[in-house]
Amino acid sequence: MNARRFRVMKVDLSTSKASILKLEGREQALGGSGLCAMLFERFGLIDESWDHPGQPLIFAIGPLTGYFPLMSKTVCAFRSPYHNQYTESHAGGRSALGLRFAGLDALVITGRSERPCILTVGSRNVEIRDAHFLWGMDVIRSGRIIRRMVERAHGHRSILRIGPAGENLSAMACINADTYRHFGRLGAGSVMGVKKLKAIVIMGDSSISLPEEPSAYKKAWKEVYRDVHDSGMMHKYHDLGTPANLERLNQLKSLPWRNLKESFDPEAHRISGETFAAKHLLRNLACSGCPVGCIHVGFVREKFMEDSRYYYLQMAYDYEPIFAVGSMLGIKEPVSVLKLIEKTDRMGLDVISAGVALAWATEATERGIISRDQTMVDLSFGDASAYLEAVTFLAQGTNRFYSLLAQGTLKAAESYGGSEFACVLGQEMAGYATGELFFTAQSLGFRHSHLDTAAYSYEQKHAERDLDKAISFLLDDELSRCLLNSMVACLFSRKVYKKKRLAQCLESLGYVELAQNLDDAASGIRASRWKLRFKTGFDPESITIPRRFFKVVSWKGPADADYLSSLKKAYGDAIRRVAQEEKT
Ligand code: SF4
Repeated sequence: MNARRFRVMKVDLSTSKASILKLEGREQALGGSGLCAMLFERFGLIDESWDHPGQPLIFAIGPLTGYFPLMSKTVCAFRSPYHNQYTESHAGGRSALGLRFAGLDALVITGRSERPCILTVGSRNVEIRDAHFLWGMDVIRSGRIIRRMVERAHGHRSILRIGPAGENLSAMACINADTYRHFGRLGAGSVMGVKKLKAIVIMGDSSISLPEEPSAYKKAWKEVYRDVHDSGMMHKYHDLGTPANLERLNQLKSLPWRNLKESFDPEAHRISGETFAAKHLLRNLACSGCPVGCIHVGFVREKFMEDSRYYYLQMAYDYEPIFAVGSMLGIKEPVSVLKLIEKTDRMGLDVISAGVALAWATEATERGIISRDQTMVDLSFGDASAYLEAVTFLAQGTNRFYSLLAQGTLKAAESYGGSEFACVLGQEMAGYATGELFFTAQSLGFRHSHLDTAAYSYEQKHAERDLDKAISFLLDDELSRCLLNSMVACLFSRKVYKKKRLAQCLESLGYVELAQNLDDAASGIRASRWKLRFKTGFDPESITIPRRFFKVVSWKGPADADYLSSLKKAYGDAIRRVAQEEKT
């Protein structure tokens, strides 16, 4: 462990050269999200577009990764094909511990390979291999082959790969992480695609050292484990998992149905967490370094057409995918929802973006704005078979319509009309029609994600419309998440890893100065992330909230248009001030 310096591997795919950099800056950047911002400041090309070969694709972990439970996430940073601005996407799986056991705090990939390739990174080796035979292949098949290609790997091996959506440079392409996790949103998959990088294999093939005087570390570890395991605070994530939210949100009239034409359906129980657990749950899995195991792997049993044999499809289900290809598309058959999740994953598409985009296309069809000439199948809410085909068209950008839709719903609406009912809040919405605060938070949030702040949760508990209180909540919550995202903790553990506990954990590993400086570091990281967003084109005033959101009726009653507009203006101004803080 080096308390001050980061150890970063930089690989240039254009020259096939790799180097190890030892960089100062731990006190300010911490790791993860902060380290990504620091590395993008150094290697990012501010005046060039997202698809310039020199733009970096960055993966970073934090100082606690590998040492404490649930420090299991990797931050991926890049310039997004969705809006051409600096952004982040986070994923679990095995990549975080893979990087830790490869002896790296971060991996930076620049350049563009001439031919499709696989990059393998370990503690003692870096290799770029030809992978032309994998190009065009879906994520499940390519994963199977890559696992055989690197079968002699030991330790924490992680395989990150893209599907056809990333190869076709869709703004909705994800990076699949170890089959069941994803760097999902804002098009990270296409940043690999434009570099002709089909897959990255991280070999965590070394060991890590523990503190020479381990008593403080042991004490901190035991206390964290006790909170995680014995307190019961994580049980809900293991038991039903996030799908448990579905019925509650439906009861609160906050579950988007059929392109958010409604926020409640009396038959929500058909796709509830209980229904999936009772009939379709195969097993629970966990990210490396996590004792919780919230990954719910479902299954569908299918019969081959030609003979009487059966095969099983497996896919991870969570609340967000169930909303996106379930309620949002009016689908109430769990088997259809699971098949759609599996197909979308297989094609390397972000399931939230794809489901919400297809919901818009369905309503546009109903209104006669587009027809089968564009969609190639008859899209209709509830008809899963048409959506299963449409997912392939969307991933491949089969015609002009799907090419535009793959760049974002509003891009298609610009050409065909229908922007007023596009469910886009900075990017395709997450599954929370809780009200004005969530609509504002996702529209302007750093990742346009429900994970930027807990606005959706705040709004389920606060009926009052208090602008100052709401803005303070957003800013404070983002600040605490900057800290967690720099460690990099799973956000499900945010009640375990309060600031005091993080300081104790850092100190036990010898990061004494860091532990004493967390407030300043978090403020600096928040400011530097926003500074990069603004430098790469972010403008809060240019983001519009489509009319559909002003019509939502939630448990609080109809959305208040004036309050929503005021919130958006106030939050945009606040973010602008945050970005300027660092300049002074
Ligand atoms: S709680 Fe779930 S997402 Fe979080 S680290 Fe554990 S398995 Fe991964």
